[in-house]
Amino acid sequence: MTFLAPRSDFPLLADTPTLHYLDSAATAQKPRVVLDALQQFYERDNANPHRGAYELSARATERYHDARATIATFIGATDADCTLFVRGTTEAMNLIAYGWGDAHIGAGDAIVVTAMDHHASFVTFQQLAKRTGAEFRIAELTDDGRIDMTSLRSMLDSRVKLISFPHVSNALGTINPVTEIVALAHAVGAVVVCDGAQAVPHLAVDVEALGVDFYAFSGHKVGGPMGIGVLWGRRALLESMSPWQFGGDMIEIVGDQVTTFNTLPHRFEAGTPNAADAVGLAVACDYLTALGMDRVRAHEVELTALLLDGLQLLDGIRIFGPMHAQERSGVVSFAFEDVHAHDLATILDEHGVCVRAGHHCAQPLMRRLGVPATARASVWVHTTPDDLHALMTALQHAKSLFADVALR
Ligand code: PMP
Repeated sequence: MTFLAPRSDFPLLADTPTLHYLDSAATAQKPRVVLDALQQFYERDNANPHRGAYELSARATERYHDARATIATFIGATDADCTLFVRGTTEAMNLIAYGWGDAHIGAGDAIVVTAMDHHASFVTFQQLAKRTGAEFRIAELTDDGRIDMTSLRSMLDSRVKLISFPHVSNALGTINPVTEIVALAHAVGAVVVCDGAQAVPHLAVDVEALGVDFYAFSGHKVGGPMGIGVLWGRRALLESMSPWQFGGDMIEIVGDQVTTFNTLPHRFEAGTPNAADAVGLAVACDYLTALGMDRVRAHEVELTALLLDGLQLLDGIRIFGPMHAQERSGVVSFAFEDVHAHDLATILDEHGVCVRAGHHCAQPLMRRLGVPATARASVWVHTTPDDLHALMTALQHAKSLFADVALR
């Protein structure tokens, strides 16, 4: 195994051969085809979709429409109109909270999240609970970084109206048992929100087979542009929801006192749509489809095994999350007792190695792990064993530097 996707597919990587980009979990590098598609949209197809009677506007509308269909297919959604464009996972969670939560959750109800939820869902549903007077429950984790199913089961009763969890944890790499959680949640009548931000770039996702009610992801982690993402929801749920933002495009008839609203998906896409970025995201999905999501997963499992093996050779390291590559994604968080993650990341940067250091928008998780921050390396389609080798060399250098400082 050398690579799945050549560096030459990614202009930023091709232009900086010494860079070892191991932070795809924060945002992915963009394939050239995506950048070209953005440029082409603005050069050839740019007009305001749904607005003009002229041919150019019709073309922009068609490109936007086709992008939605491509992305829906990519995530296994047969009803493309239930695939809504949003800014990203964060906005998707807020749409659910304001559009569904405020109307369906009240005092006496309960909301369940997990201790590994990203702030995008954790805080959004915590605040929904605060607004509505619902109880906010947090399912705990096992020592090896999985959702503790005993804890989760103990929290599910008929008061629970909504449960949120990540398909894949951004800080632990854990791949959660979605269908098992869905079965438990549906048995008590709860609506299931699944955060797919760290899953869609790495695993073949079929939202309908997973059985969830809402599924969200961010385009920029899939190789698409920043500022575009997707919320997929079941038609019946989406149709029962009030719009949460108002303005152009989302209306049917505007009376002086009363307004009726457009059908799906427009009802939830107020204002001029982000058409170019939708087109870019569709091209990113096509790029991954051409690579083959099964091959993407196999490539990442191999790299993750190498990464875990390499990290385990380092003295004093603590690795978080499941230890078998098959059971996790290629997001690997680690910490050294004596070195702060930020200091580590700064030294790695001197070796051209990019890793994320911090709380990964998961402060409740960090508290449970008993660390202020972790360093996190993550792999994707262009990552090679050479990138991982560079990480290990840089880590060994950092360790020796810090050992010298400790001796002084
Ligand atoms: N959920 C998870 C699991 C994530 O990794 C991220 C991005 N770090 C988000 C939600 C939020 O995504 P965005 O910032 O693109 O809205």
